[in-house]
Amino acid sequence: MVFTRGYLQSVQKVAEILKLFASWSGLNANFEKSEAYFGGVNSALKQHILNAIGLKEGSFPFRYLGLPIHPSRLTSTMYDPIVQKVQHLVCSCAVKFLAYAGKTEVLNSMVFGLENFWCGSLLLPQNVCAIITKLRKQLFWGYQEGQRKLVFKDWASISSPWSEGGFQIKNLAIWNQANMLKWLWHFVHGCGSIWTDWIRHDFLANTSIWDLQIHEYHSESLRNVLTTREIWVIHCGSRQKAMDMLDTCTTKGKFSIGKAYNFLRPRFPTHACYRAVQDPFLLSRHKFTLMLALQRKLATADQFCRRGISIVNRCCLCKQHAESPRHLFFQCTYSKAVLSSLFTWMGLQLRDLQLRSLILWCHRSKPKKHWRNKWFKCSIAAVTYYLWRERNYRLFEDKERQASVSVFYFYTNHLLLHMMKY
Ligand SMILES: [Zn+2]
Repeated sequence: MVFTRGYLQSVQKVAEILKLFASWSGLNANFEKSEAYFGGVNSALKQHILNAIGLKEGSFPFRYLGLPIHPSRLTSTMYDPIVQKVQHLVCSCAVKFLAYAGKTEVLNSMVFGLENFWCGSLLLPQNVCAIITKLRKQLFWGYQEGQRKLVFKDWASISSPWSEGGFQIKNLAIWNQANMLKWLWHFVHGCGSIWTDWIRHDFLANTSIWDLQIHEYHSESLRNVLTTREIWVIHCGSRQKAMDMLDTCTTKGKFSIGKAYNFLRPRFPTHACYRAVQDPFLLSRHKFTLMLALQRKLATADQFCRRGISIVNRCCLCKQHAESPRHLFFQCTYSKAVLSSLFTWMGLQLRDLQLRSLILWCHRSKPKKHWRNKWFKCSIAAVTYYLWRERNYRLFEDKERQASVSVFYFYTNHLLLHMMKY
């Protein structure tokens, strides 16, 4: 992309330089594939320039490096490419049948990669963020447009880290604001891009970025940075605090988007149980079921009854008692039999068979990093996962295994999965 002033002489000079470059290097600019875009040039002069250099006129908006370019404010429809790409991922068959662990990987790698490219350059409008967040929810919870699904964990808590009971999926709107704060930091400290240096010298010669008022004649990018500055000041409480906090979002002399995101995101109470689930020794698929079981957010029959949905509340494993997370983990005779067999194999004798107590016992046992404690913790996580799977087999596929068969299945799969991981 080449920029010139809106005069014929300036454009002719650039055309001459391109010809000179071609004569030296042999690299010719393809004028048939090139277009000229004008801003603030009258139609007579525009036509004169086009005739002189032999280019056709292009129309706004056009895309450069995948991002929309427009001389005035970008409208919501100009963000359609990113919405369509996320929609394409959500609708792909390969993603539909993944477990929560796999879907989180897709959200944090493929979808986040797409969004991050746009978030680094543009402040996405609220309605675009809402549409993409809706698509992310569809992907994670596994429902289609127009359908509804009853879920027991809200999206805000899912976006929090493991230690706060979430699944570490980034909040798009807040991540976008943290990215925009990077530009504000560059304006304050300099040493950024050519663009920030140019704005600093031309617009901010005698004033600070904190004092610059938002004007209609400012470019979309500058308006985005100034809008984020307002959000940051409101979040921090005052301008002085905002300036101090921005300075703390630094790692080794560079702006840390992660630190800014952590400061902006909502906080949820931490719990030792949740910190225990954070252990990388646990398999991802086990982590998700364990976290939902600890928070009593699994879709058990008692949850549906509490919301007024009429279903038969009977445990599929023992077929005697009402189903609830407390009963499944581990008051049920079936789950007790599986857990007792596991404890016998491990040489343990524990009386308190509540899931939270067991996980806390593993987490607090010393020495913390001893392989035995880690092994106990991941075994309890695996039992929780296999019991939930057995419950779903019985409920949705009308298949069932005896506790002894289930124990054998658990040992072989559990050991094999960990051998594959380490
Ligand atoms: Zn039961």
